[in-house]
Amino acid sequence: MPHPKRRHSRGRRNRRRAHDSLRLPAMSICTECQRRIRPHVVCPHCGAYKGRKVLEVKDLA
Ligand SMILES: [Zn+2]
Repeated sequence: MPHPKRRHSRGRRNRRRAHDSLRLPAMSICTECQRRIRPHVVCPHCGAYKGRKVLEVKDLA
């Protein structure tokens, strides 16, 4: 079986992990209910998109 000849250096490991961190999704404000929403997505709180109500939001609780 192929096997690594030697351990990678700490610097090489750290360079690989430099891209591993998670980032928060982009957020904007809903023009109807003023809550934080993802852009280009219908507001999950009030069902509005581009200042117009396009969906009924069911209370799932
Ligand atoms: Zn909204």
